Amino acid sequence: MLITGASRGIGAASAVLAAERGYDVAISYRRDAGAAESVAERARTHGARAVTIRADVANEDDVERMFATVDAELGPITVLVNNAGTLDLRMRLDEMTVERVERTLRVNILGMFLCCRAAVRRMSTRHGGVGGRIVNVSSVAARIGGSREYIDYAASKGAVDTMTVGLANEVAEEGIRVNAVRPGLIYTDIHAQGGEPGRVDRLKAVVPMKRGGDPVEVARAILWLAAEDSSYCTGSLMDVSGGR
Ligand code: NAP
Repeated sequence: MLITGASRGIGAASAVLAAERGYDVAISYRRDAGAAESVAERARTHGARAVTIRADVANEDDVERMFATVDAELGPITVLVNNAGTLDLRMRLDEMTVERVERTLRVNILGMFLCCRAAVRRMSTRHGGVGGRIVNVSSVAARIGGSREYIDYAASKGAVDTMTVGLANEVAEEGIRVNAVRPGLIYTDIHAQGGEPGRVDRLKAVVPMKRGGDPVEVARAILWLAAEDSSYCTGSLMDVSGGR
């Protein structure tokens, strides 16, 4: 299983849970090699093989090299979790620069496209593969819209949902299932990156369950969509958001 952006947060929780469930894992990251290696160490305590790969998902050469490394070190990929994602400081749309919006869309949309393309070329029976599963990490922001915070990010997650449904239909007869999880307010570092480390606690009252989520609660949904348990699901968008 290749999990992009697995050096922390939801990706790290997914990598460790995957190792617990018997997968060998490839942990991709962009900047923090030490954090990625400590996730790999935790995965290895469950008996899994674990490799770390530095790759910017928005860079085509990096993505091609990342998949080649997985081929060489772990063998044919069976599950891709497109988790890497980014957002910028909260602001209104009329304050955003073109550079900011392009950066967000490149990582969250182009990055997912590049990883999906490389995975389909390996998994699809059309290309001599034996099938596989792709799980995309979207967001409830795709539904809610991100007003006064990050409409660019929300729009990129809308594209993730569309790509999930379109690709699921395109490869349904080629042995590949493609689904997405849409997390709500989850305790990770991404909120500090948006300029508000305490964002989950500020907003949790609007969640019907009145609390934020733990990364492992999203990881469990990802692992379910990756497993045979969800064998009749494709093109599904699963909210993991406490009812929000
Ligand atoms: P996080 O703690 O900020 O972790 C993001 C991960 O993505 C890090 O491992 C980071 O690696 C990596 N990453 C960022 N840009 C990358 C790039 N260009 N190429 C490769 N890796 C990159 O975030 P998180 O909250 O766990 O988010 C994971 C996913 O869940 C994202 O897609 C996010 O949009 C989605 N999500 C999160 C929430 C939430 O409330 N937390 C809600 C809805 C959806 P480095 O640290 O090495 O840069």
